[in-house]
Amino acid sequence: MPKNARLAASAAVLAITVGIAGCGAVQADAQDDRPLVLTTFSVLADIAANVAGDDLRVESITKPGAEIHGYEPTPGDIRTASQADLIVDNGLSLEAWFAQFVSEVDVPHVVVSEGVEPIDIASDAYAGKPNPHAWMSPQNVQVYVDNLVDAFSDLAPEHADDFAARGAAYQAELQQVRDDLVAELAALPDNARALVTCEGAFSYLARDAGLTEQYIWPVNAEQQATPQQIAQAIEFVHDNDVPAVFCESTVSDRAMQQVVEATGAAFGGILYVDSLSEAGGPVPTYLDLIRHDADTIVGGLSGAS
Ligand SMILES: [Zn+2]
Repeated sequence: MPKNARLAASAAVLAITVGIAGCGAVQADAQDDRPLVLTTFSVLADIAANVAGDDLRVESITKPGAEIHGYEPTPGDIRTASQADLIVDNGLSLEAWFAQFVSEVDVPHVVVSEGVEPIDIASDAYAGKPNPHAWMSPQNVQVYVDNLVDAFSDLAPEHADDFAARGAAYQAELQQVRDDLVAELAALPDNARALVTCEGAFSYLARDAGLTEQYIWPVNAEQQATPQQIAQAIEFVHDNDVPAVFCESTVSDRAMQQVVEATGAAFGGILYVDSLSEAGGPVPTYLDLIRHDADTIVGGLSGAS
């Protein structure tokens, strides 16, 4: 290789290396002495950032698009977490990996679902356990915000008033998004008021919107979509003449496509629940996620998709 080309190549490698280091989500940044808050997944990071403002650094352990229930933390995650000042997790057994994870780092953590009224999972091996997807009700997220304001005020008492003010402003936005969701879904006719998804992640949203919920499997896990589970979903869609079915962004929709083929229902689209999209995608924030799902559900069930 000629010397110039070699130089250019090594400069390119350097640029790539720097680029990766620069956008690696969680880095110990010598320039940034704000307390580091680490959340377990992207949805919580966005909610927390709305309370934290510029007063704290908020990062997510799992990246947009990641499967969050069965995530396996890397040694790098553990190193990063040991440098955090606060770890934020959802609780309600959402993050199966979390107890082991926090046992390996000596950092305080706050469970944001504390105080939320859980809905129990109705079926399968998880029957009777609380459904972990409490954030799919914006009213529950108002409780998350109260918990974050308290935890952040303990962490950085000098900013307590700012956390409280941002929390109250965000809670007002949550109320608006919740009211819009309920109003939008109230327009669906009685024969289209069933929400059929891959994971049973929509119990809280379905309750808020007055929809009947049906799913193929209760919680994402390695083994999902048994033939019996698919058969039950097919039977439900048949019996209730459900016009459209949905699946979520973080899992394969293969099983739901079988339901579509067997029933003639439309595939109504991709819903977001366990992860935001990347910044340029359809749901870069939690409020976008709720709005996007409401639009997709209404579009699918009213035949407009
Ligand atoms: Zn989930």
